[in-house]
Parts: sequence; structure tokens; C-alpha cells
Amino acid sequence: MTIKNSFINNVQISNITDSVLLIQQIRPPAYFSCSDGLLILPGNGRNSKAVALDINIEPKYVEALVKEFGPVSDYVNTHGHMDHIAHVHAWESIGATIHSPGNEAEALIRLQGFYNSYNWLEMGSVETVEAFAELNGYHPCKKVNPFEPGTTLQFDELTVETIPFTGHSTGHSGFFLPVEKILHISCLGFDKPNAEANGFGPWYGFRQCSISQYARDIEAAELLFLEKANFLTSSHGYLIEKSDTTPFSYMKHKLDNNRVIVDQALHALDSNLAEDEIVNELLRQDLFFPKAKMKGLMFDIYSFWESWMIRHHINHQV
Ligand SMILES: [Zn+2]
Repeated sequence: MTIKNSFINNVQISNITDSVLLIQQIRPPAYFSCSDGLLILPGNGRNSKAVALDINIEPKYVEALVKEFGPVSDYVNTHGHMDHIAHVHAWESIGATIHSPGNEAEALIRLQGFYNSYNWLEMGSVETVEAFAELNGYHPCKKVNPFEPGTTLQFDELTVETIPFTGHSTGHSGFFLPVEKILHISCLGFDKPNAEANGFGPWYGFRQCSISQYARDIEAAELLFLEKANFLTSSHGYLIEKSDTTPFSYMKHKLDNNRVIVDQALHALDSNLAEDEIVNELLRQDLFFPKAKMKGLMFDIYSFWESWMIRHHINHQV
């Protein structure tokens, strides 16, 4: 099946169906400032205005989309990580009502909500988090409507089922459009930009992430996709068509591979070390991120994330 693609400047628009577009900002201004999402166009007997699902792109492109496709009544966010919250205020500014998983909605309203939700202050200062937010263009929203992951949202006659995929974060939600047969797995971990490229895979660099929950989420997503969906989309990966199980084998392989990396490093260590000493020792080995090449803000942030990835593996084995 050939999907029609078009561009508005730096934004790629793929017509998955006549009514649903995959929106991807090609070059984000910073590494953690954008996520791909879906725009559902208005249609007779469906939604009277467009609805946006987790399209976190720069404000100038939000305006360009509205100019091209008309007003957007509602915007649904999937979770409170920076690459999903930085530019949501732009959708509120053009008149959309913002919806977010309840326990992560604070991250959209104020930066304190972001650093409290993910224990950023364990890493160090508020200034580091502020610098990270500024780097990614974060601005807060004024008002957010919370929803419980797993509930079905209705916009006129459009049905959006939200699906809890909470291995990634406690409120992290995917979407299933039952009429359009599209599954959006958000940040579950399929981050290949194209079939040939590689990516990092599932990300679990905060205290709130869970490797065992990830495994269950991936199984549940695969079942849903194979049984009910014609298309799969995600926050940082390419469009997948019916019955292609690449995302699931990719994500499982990445998790398995990460476990082997940590296991091998652990075997080489003195078994009498306390957990903090083990983590510090493994951090020095740059198991996941090339921190030796980093300094300042990026070194602090990647060390913080990697320390949690290591801890999740250590505790997952017990
Ligand atoms: Zn995320």
C-alpha cells in the first residue's frame, strides 16, 4: 500500500487514511523537544473539528497545520516527559482543549510538576532541570483536563481508546482508533526512523519505569495490533502496516540485549559491593550512553538516566 506524503517546511505529513494523518517534525530544535503524533481531520458523522493526538512540535508548525487543516478542538497528550510536553501550550493557544493522563498532567502545567513527577531533584539542582527545559523550548499550559489511562475519549462521534502502557511512565498511554484501525504506541520503544536505521529502544531512565511492565505492555500491544489494527504509529518511529511485527521483535531484542550488557558487567564485579557502589562502577563503564564524551548538563542528565536503567536491571533480576 502506498501512503501519500507531503511536507509543510520541516514537517512530514503522511496520509495513513483519508481522515488520519501522521505528523512528524523532521529536525527537532533539540533532541528531546518533539514527538510524532496523529491529526484526525473533521468529517461528517465523526468529529466537527480536527483532533490532535500527541503532536508535540514547534509552535510555528502548529500554526502552519491549523492554517492548512483548520481549527483543532482537542489535543490529547500521552505522558509528561519533556519530548511530549514542551510545545503543547501552542495547541492551547490556537484554542484546543488539552487532555493528559491525570497523574502526569502537572508536568504540562508547571515545571515543578515535571521534576517532581520523575524525581529529577535526586540528580541535583532545580537549575539543571530549568536549563534542560529551556533547551527544549518548554512553556507551560494554563489548563489541562485529566483522564485515567484506559478510558475511552469521545470527541463528537470520534472514539479514541486510551491504553495504559505504564512500563515507560506511570500514566503513559497509547491510543487505539477502533473505526480507523490505527494503534499509536507512543513511547513504548519503537524508535527506528526507518527500516534500516537503528535506535535506542525502550527507555526506562526514571525511577517510575518498570522493565517487567514493559514486557507485558509490548505483549499487549502486539496482540491488539495483530488482532485489530491495520496501522501502527509511535512517537519516534516510522509507520508500520498490518501484520508487520518488526516493532515488537525490535523492542524485545533491545530489552534482552540491555539485560545481557548489565549482566556481563555485573559478573565482572566484586559481589560484595553495595547497590550504590555497583551503580557508580557501572556508570563509569558507559554501558548505554557515551558519557565520556559529554560534560556539564548533558553528562549529569545522561548519568541520572543511566543510573536508573542500571538499577532497574539489578532489581529486575532479584
Ligand atoms: Zn517518554
